[in-house]
Amino acid sequence: MAADLESEVQAIDKSLLECSAEEIAVKWLQANDLQKEVYQHLAYYVPKIYCRGPNPAPQREDMLAQHVLLGPMEWYLCGEDPAFGFPKLEQANRPSHLCGRVFKVGEPTYSCRDCAVDPTCVLCMECFLGSIHREHRYRMTTSGGGGFCDCGDTEAWKEGPYCQKHELNTSETAEEEDPLVHLPEDMVARAYNIFAIAFKYAVDILTWEKENELPGLEMIEKSDTYYCMLFNDEVHTYEQVIYTLQKAVNCTQKEAIGFATTVDRDGRRSVRYGDFQYCDQAKSVIVRNTSRQTKPLKVQVMHSSIVAHQSFGLKLLTWLGSVIGYSDGLRRILCQVGLQEGPDGENSSLVDKLMLYDSKLWKGARNVYHQLFMSSLLMDLKYKKLFAIRFARNYERLQSDFMKDDHDREFSIADLSIQIFTVPSLARMLITEENLMTTIIKTFMDHLRHRDIQGRFQFERYTALQAFKFRRVQSLILDLKYVLISKPTEWSDDLRRKFLEGFDAFLELLKCMQGMDPITRQVGQHIEMEPEWEAAFTLQMKLTLVISMMQDWCALDEKVLIEAYKKCLTVLMQCHSGFTDGEQPIVLSMCGHSVETIRYCVSQEKVSIHLPVSRLLAGLHVLLSKTEVAYKFPELLPLSELSPPMLIEHPLRCLVLCAQVHAGMWRRNGFSLVNQDVVQQNNTLIEEMLYLIIMIVGERFSPGIGQVNATDEIKREIIHQLSIRPMAHSELVKALPEDENRETGMESVIEEVACFKKPGLTGRGLYELKPECAKNFNLYFYHFSRAEQSKAEEAQRKLRRQNREDTALPPPALPPFCPLFASLVNILQSDVMLCIMGTILQWAVEHNGYAWSESMLQRVLHLIGMALQEEKQHLENLSEENVVTFTFTQKISKPGEAPSNSPSILAMLETLQNAPHLEVHKDMIRWILKTFNTIKKLRESSSSSPVAETEGNIMEESSRDKDKAERKRKAEIARLRREKIMAQMSEMQRHFINENKELFQQTLEELDTSTSGVHENSPVISDAKLTALGPEQTRVAEPRQVVMCILCQEEQEVKVDSRAMVLAAFIQRSTVLSKNRNKITPDPEKYDPLFMHPDLACGTHTGSCGHIMHAHCWQRYFDAVQAKEQRRQQRLRVHTSYDVENGEFLCPLCECLSNTVIPLLPPPRVLFNRLDFSGQPNLTQWIKTVSQQVKALHLLQNEDCASHSGHSEKMDQLQLPEGFRPDFKLKNPYSESIKEMLTTFGTATYKVGLKVHPNEEDPRVPIMCWGSCAYTIQTIERLLADEDKPLFGHLPCRQDDCLTSLTRFAAAHWTVSSLSAVQGHFCTLLASLVPNEKNGNLPCILDIDMFHLLVSLVLSFPAIHCQDFSGVSLGTGDLHLFHLVTMAHIIQILLTSSTEENGMDQENTNSEEEVAVLTLYKFLCQCTGSALKEISSGWHLCRNLKAGIMPFLRCSALFFHYLNGVPAPSEIQVNGANQFEHLCSYLSLPNNLTCLFQENSEILNTLIESWCSNNEVKRYLEGKRHAISYARESNKLIDLPDDYSCLINQASNFSCPKSGGDKSRAPTLCLVCGTMLCSQSYCCQTELEGEDVGACTAHTYTCGSGVGIFLRVRECQVLFLAGKTKGCFYPPPYLDDYGETDQGLRRGNPLHLCKERFKKIQKLWQQHSITEEIGHAQEANQTLVGIDWQHL
Ligand SMILES: [Zn+2]
Ligand SMILES: [Zn+2]
Ligand SMILES: [Zn+2]
Ligand SMILES: [Zn+2]
Ligand SMILES: [Zn+2]
Ligand SMILES: [Zn+2]
Ligand SMILES: [Zn+2]
Repeated sequence: MAADLESEVQAIDKSLLECSAEEIAVKWLQANDLQKEVYQHLAYYVPKIYCRGPNPAPQREDMLAQHVLLGPMEWYLCGEDPAFGFPKLEQANRPSHLCGRVFKVGEPTYSCRDCAVDPTCVLCMECFLGSIHREHRYRMTTSGGGGFCDCGDTEAWKEGPYCQKHELNTSETAEEEDPLVHLPEDMVARAYNIFAIAFKYAVDILTWEKENELPGLEMIEKSDTYYCMLFNDEVHTYEQVIYTLQKAVNCTQKEAIGFATTVDRDGRRSVRYGDFQYCDQAKSVIVRNTSRQTKPLKVQVMHSSIVAHQSFGLKLLTWLGSVIGYSDGLRRILCQVGLQEGPDGENSSLVDKLMLYDSKLWKGARNVYHQLFMSSLLMDLKYKKLFAIRFARNYERLQSDFMKDDHDREFSIADLSIQIFTVPSLARMLITEENLMTTIIKTFMDHLRHRDIQGRFQFERYTALQAFKFRRVQSLILDLKYVLISKPTEWSDDLRRKFLEGFDAFLELLKCMQGMDPITRQVGQHIEMEPEWEAAFTLQMKLTLVISMMQDWCALDEKVLIEAYKKCLTVLMQCHSGFTDGEQPIVLSMCGHSVETIRYCVSQEKVSIHLPVSRLLAGLHVLLSKTEVAYKFPELLPLSELSPPMLIEHPLRCLVLCAQVHAGMWRRNGFSLVNQDVVQQNNTLIEEMLYLIIMIVGERFSPGIGQVNATDEIKREIIHQLSIRPMAHSELVKALPEDENRETGMESVIEEVACFKKPGLTGRGLYELKPECAKNFNLYFYHFSRAEQSKAEEAQRKLRRQNREDTALPPPALPPFCPLFASLVNILQSDVMLCIMGTILQWAVEHNGYAWSESMLQRVLHLIGMALQEEKQHLENLSEENVVTFTFTQKISKPGEAPSNSPSILAMLETLQNAPHLEVHKDMIRWILKTFNTIKKLRESSSSSPVAETEGNIMEESSRDKDKAERKRKAEIARLRREKIMAQMSEMQRHFINENKELFQQTLEELDTSTSGVHENSPVISDAKLTALGPEQTRVAEPRQVVMCILCQEEQEVKVDSRAMVLAAFIQRSTVLSKNRNKITPDPEKYDPLFMHPDLACGTHTGSCGHIMHAHCWQRYFDAVQAKEQRRQQRLRVHTSYDVENGEFLCPLCECLSNTVIPLLPPPRVLFNRLDFSGQPNLTQWIKTVSQQVKALHLLQNEDCASHSGHSEKMDQLQLPEGFRPDFKLKNPYSESIKEMLTTFGTATYKVGLKVHPNEEDPRVPIMCWGSCAYTIQTIERLLADEDKPLFGHLPCRQDDCLTSLTRFAAAHWTVSSLSAVQGHFCTLLASLVPNEKNGNLPCILDIDMFHLLVSLVLSFPAIHCQDFSGVSLGTGDLHLFHLVTMAHIIQILLTSSTEENGMDQENTNSEEEVAVLTLYKFLCQCTGSALKEISSGWHLCRNLKAGIMPFLRCSALFFHYLNGVPAPSEIQVNGANQFEHLCSYLSLPNNLTCLFQENSEILNTLIESWCSNNEVKRYLEGKRHAISYARESNKLIDLPDDYSCLINQASNFSCPKSGGDKSRAPTLCLVCGTMLCSQSYCCQTELEGEDVGACTAHTYTCGSGVGIFLRVRECQVLFLAGKTKGCFYPPPYLDDYGETDQGLRRGNPLHLCKERFKKIQKLWQQHSITEEIGHAQEANQTLVGIDWQHL
């Protein structure tokens, strides 16, 4: 069956391939009824090409469609071979100067904050780079897909509309011409024909709704196969769909994921193919399974022919889009075809049909035709306008469809509004010709149908569905904003009329909101249900910006402003007609004044906070002042109709409501109020009233209210924000009032009021207020929240104390009011106000415990201060003819009249000045009195108006009082400071550990060090030459080492036979030094790690925080942690930052992640190094002896294996070397507890290093221990070299301690391993350099890392040496092993050296050393059969050799230093000259390394010959294989570009490697190797150890051995991963100009690489601290633990 199908498909392919496009086109050219011909062709062929089986075959389909279907169309269109026709068209084309590039998802877009007409105007990267905006303040975002580049659109840019590329075309096509003139006439005709047919076909088939018929196409082949088509919806989750599919169509989870991914991306996917019944069955299962949720998944059984034609229909639309790309003329023709009305009149054009069918189409189809619209209709200036009209006429219908649709707006045709409405000329045209403003507002109102009896919106009892719709409705407000974004520069009568019509509609809308959602205070019982306040609130918030845009429009035309003002007033009067509700007005009297008002108790009756009409009128009123219309045309304005009750009543109710809320009267807690609360409440209400008066009189910083401009306004905002504390750019922007240009506005003035402080390695750049601006600080600034106010007050007082100033915060001098508002100042000197002030001061004087509050007094003092400032300014700006009518000083000097006879306000202030309970306000009162005196003097000097006499000498304080007060003040300050310091101290302690982890650790270590007594650096060995190894090794008396356990605080000495002390340690696999990241990980069970390859592909790193515990204390601690975590995990199913099951725990002192412990040991060599003998063997003799010993061991071993039956003949042959006693069994010197710890750490190293189950018997355990020691030393050597630090003297204590313990441990480990295994290892290791018959097939010297070899040899040698009683010292062995490996390394370097005689200046040619190296090299040439490149410069060879061997020597110095404890000579503790010589001397090497060869030539010549004769070496020299050369360069993280947008661009071009060219949603860059990955997505999940993991986790296993460092490009965020369960985010190394990162790319400021921060990340990696960093991050932020890191 399957085979039949296959051959059938192939047969069809053949017949299809024989089709000739040219012949068909000729037939079409001659046809009378072209449409019929084409349709027949399509009806016959389309089903033969598309939908031939259950799965789409896009490549095959595309190929055939091009050949059979599109080819003929192209031939027909061109009238010749399209391969010639299209290029000709392109050449003849005069392209427009619009770029119009349609953005892909994730592509970077740029907007210029200086020049873009509105923020929706964007450029593509190419245009941006060629534009002037590069140098401006631009903003960068990533596109969500859709939308296009506005380059060339003169309406979009205030300046620089063209980039370099698009500017070229502008000169030629200055005026608009018909692009059709560039096309030959017959082509125009053919294009019309074929476009009309193709477009109509596509539209018909896509909008076709019947399931078994086709539009105008006969079904030629009635094969009756069907698809079960699954459609996307936004209701069901991925998981639900996957689960359902597995059940319904019996597929695997993988297939289901595939289906679901396609459905999500394209909007639909067939999930079953077969006869109708078969498909219908699947459909019913899916529907049944998903109908329990709100609505079932949409599934449809479709005839395969229909699906085939639909697929081709989409293909055709894409084809049209690409064909019109060749010529603007063709594009115009397509536009014409699309907008041509059909026979059915209105809405019958193809474009209309598609638009109106939009919400019924699936995602993929929508995308295709939206793209076509963008590349055709929106690119042609003439048709853009016609299309805009069609769009506006269909607006209501499209919006209704969108409300019902469940797809996001970006997939709806409604989303095109942004492309149309934001074009100023189009918007204006649509307003005047299509009445667009009114249409939008009316459509909006239509969708909010719920009203109360007064006709206001009602949102109570909203269902979830209505709430969902309400969210969609809000997009209409967005459209309204788009239309209003650009303001008209000139007004026509038409525009005025239509704008005002729209304004009317807008007022209708506001009228429905005025007073909506009123609330009543509930007393006595608790309310269960919160009323639905959110919807109303959202509506008001969303409309705020529209209201101010409306006002902006009104401000531009006097006629419009006057009309709008009148209309608004009329509506306000309508809203509040009869708001007295029939009640009689009441009369209130005070200080001889009386007023009529309405009785309304806010705390008992309904109040609404929604008063948009009042707000709008207030705004317009200010405009009357600002534009001076109020003064120019007073007769045209209905100012006389303004009545205070109507204007004030409702806003005041709202303010009273707010005050009551502050007073705690609206707390719905159900507790009845007790009496003392009432007093407290009244006090708060009084405070609130005073605050309101302060605002009314003091807030003058809006142009039109006070005599200020917009700059003054923004400066004042900034000053007050920075008065709270210094702020980062982004914080400041956030804190400023929302406004289209708040950021640019802020930036234009920030320099005047603030200084910028750059950030360090962490943190952000900050703006600090300039000191001279502090005088403008107003404590009662109206944008302060309560918390901000008190913070600002504290900060400002502190500042003043620091500057040794008084702490008064007097009101600042204010700008004068505009005339329309000028009379407001009189509030301050009104009788009522003075009476209020007097009363409150009186309360304070009487010091009546509960009837007044300090904040009340503070506000009164502020008000008095404001009045004084006002009067002072009046006097200072006095001109000849004016009389100062502001006489506050006079009024407050007068005592109250009978009957109360209260003292004057001034007198009361004097009294209060000395009141002990008002210490805090003293400075302010003193300031008031001082200012009063200044004004008095001013008045006297101007003498224009007499000042009333003041009683008494107010300024005189009794000196005793003054002294006392001063003392008290100082004492108070001192107390406050003490408290402050104490608070700071405890705060610091709390944060100290977290923020200064490293510092903290070091400090602790210093403490440790000091408690543990003397450390090794203490014995001062004077000038004597220091030697680290060999018989000449410097003898150092090992000091007693006493350490303290961090758990039990007991001290103990480190000795071989005492209880073990251990260090917390963390072992991890590492690829940091890897030179080959693609190496296939070998099977860990079979892998033999004895020889490390020089590519260092994967090593085992050991780190430690350096904290010491008793082994048994640690064991107890670890058991407790384990038990606790197991209980916790069972109960809460939570993860922790450490994996207990894997032996992980946190260091009990510093919480550093650890997974084992290293035992502390005394220097191990001392135990086995027997007395020194003179006359030690030389290298040659020594090798001979050891070789004999090795041979003996081999024989013995064989003997063991062969038989146990006594001594055989071979044994007799064996001549045991002198003094060698292989039967000798060494007694282990260590205590049981130390032995146990040796095994523990060894097993842990083995387990982690090889990723195997622990097995302490495995012979590979000791190898892994030596390997970890070698690898860790190598990483530290690299770190020091990279930072250009000397080898010794700069290691942090923790690393120093760690290396000491690690080396001593590795040297002692053989005592707990099988002796014969270790001996065996030694034999094999040695055989790699000194060949013997037994060990064949070892790696050649090119494939051995010599330092690993050295460490393994030296540390395994004691296993043989302990049986050697010939008198050879262990030190001699060390030295010879070291020399032997060093020589092998030299040969290795010379063989692989890529020495080039690059004309570098040579010095000292033919020195002894150079001659020797050259001789050695020549000898090598001989040995290799002259395969080595000829080199004649000894100088170059020498240089290369020294550079190549340096890392090895440095590592060896560290190794022998830690092994033998010989201090490093002072010369290599600092960077200086002759490091090489000092190293050689410390390591017992001749300065001229070639001397080693000369001294030992006897044996070395043989060895070199044997090394060179290896087959691999030959292959290498013949160029057949690669080898590592020396010195190996340090690995760095990849180079990152300076400009972050390069990365965004790179990522936007990256497509998912698994789903055929699709854009990846979360492109993520590996910073170690530079691979881009498709993260966080089902498509790129793979299976790892039986679990599904995301692309990043999978990558870490090959690239980083489980550890990864990534940059999530779209999020601009660094990601650290370790294993499958651990991860954290880390700040990216990119900063904007304000020194801030932008995680999530929300602000869009240009970002540049901060090299220091990137280095810091790199260092974390090189130090193997990534896992630790993650641990700390997860401990600090528990939510990180819950993230599914493995799916990233
Ligand atoms: Zn562009
Ligand atoms: Zn451009
Ligand atoms: Zn610009
Ligand atoms: Zn202890
Ligand atoms: Zn620690
Ligand atoms: Zn992918
Ligand atoms: Zn990588």
